Amino acid sequence: MTFTELLFGPQGSVLSYTIILTILVLMLVISLRLLLSRRKKAYLSMMLSVIALIVQYVLMLRSPGAADLGLEDYSLLLLKICSFLLLNLGVFQLYNATRLRHHLLFYSFLLITVAVSSTYFLTEGLVEATGFQLVLLQRLWMELYLYVLIFLSFTMITPKIGQAGKYQAGLTIYFCGHTAHMVNTYMFLGKQPFYTALENMLPIAFYIILFLLLFDRVIELMQAIYTSSITDGLTRLYNRKYFDNRVNQCVLRQEPVSVIFSDIDNFKKLNDTKGHDMGDKVLKHVAEIMKEEAEEYGICGRYGGEEMLVLITDGDVDPGELAERIRSRVEAETIATVSVGYSSYKKGMTAHDLVKQADEAMYSAKQTGKNKVVKFGKSMPKAAL
Ligand code: GH3
Ligand code: MG
Ligand code: MG
Repeated sequence: MTFTELLFGPQGSVLSYTIILTILVLMLVISLRLLLSRRKKAYLSMMLSVIALIVQYVLMLRSPGAADLGLEDYSLLLLKICSFLLLNLGVFQLYNATRLRHHLLFYSFLLITVAVSSTYFLTEGLVEATGFQLVLLQRLWMELYLYVLIFLSFTMITPKIGQAGKYQAGLTIYFCGHTAHMVNTYMFLGKQPFYTALENMLPIAFYIILFLLLFDRVIELMQAIYTSSITDGLTRLYNRKYFDNRVNQCVLRQEPVSVIFSDIDNFKKLNDTKGHDMGDKVLKHVAEIMKEEAEEYGICGRYGGEEMLVLITDGDVDPGELAERIRSRVEAETIATVSVGYSSYKKGMTAHDLVKQADEAMYSAKQTGKNKVVKFGKSMPKAAL
């Protein structure tokens, strides 16, 4: 068999279905993985739609020329439309929480689909046609209805998901594939080689795009899980565990690092007088200032309630100057002030020592008037007794 025969001949559909089945099995593995790792019912529809598609293509592979098989032809067409519906629900749920109205809409579409599919049997009594012609007329309304669903997917699904461009491209290809199928079936009785090739190959492109969409979404979700496990939800600074780990790594490698320890002044009073929401806003704003000032030279972490720290890994940066820049910007740009202490690594110190010294320097700043920067050392100002 030559390549042209494979592409344009009847064997083309067998090749196409086999490739699509392979892609679908890969998608099944990924969606199962997603379902198990996230334990969200939402990902079930993606899996179910892939299973429905696999059943559909296995049946099509068993009987590639199903057009004259009556009930089996009807079931396959109905399955094709239902799995397209389910697939759209699955894609929607990759990016959105499903509410009751979404479920109601989906079930309404299923009902409409079943209602439209009844035209398959009604046609027989209404028109005087026989054999192949009758089958074509029986299928017509369902095939046209699929166009409506493709159009609705464009308008209702794509605006609500990430990777919208990718899905739009996929739907366009699906649309072209269906059009090639319609033209070939209704104008050339399924025998035009060029349209047959299009009919066979375009769905492959559609499923490749769907596979990529699913794959990218899984990576996106995994990244989000990792990010949320090492950051603080409110300020987006690193959390204490991650920050401590990083300090530890640097100290073990004996790098010339410094730690800046800042604590918002009179924050309890601010919460009490201006409200907790305002308190949160101030926290976020201070965190933003710290990130802007320090991100180039190290990392920022939220240690406790209103304690934020910087680990300076760039040995050329003067920690005192950086701490002062943070302090003065907080004073100028927010309704709060911060007391700041800092300390630099010296041989023999542990990570815990380094953070503790910076904390002690911050405490000294608190004790001697707040809203100031203090370097750890013997010369630290002491509170007047
Ligand atoms: P000082 O100047 O001595 O640091 O006094 P302070 O009031 O800032 O310190 P204190 O430790 O007494 O109070 C810290 C307050 O921070 C208490 C707590 O309600 C508030 N806090 C902790 N976490 C959050 C948060 O996530 N959001 C808000 N709004 N407040 C928080
Ligand atoms: Mg405080
Ligand atoms: Mg505090």
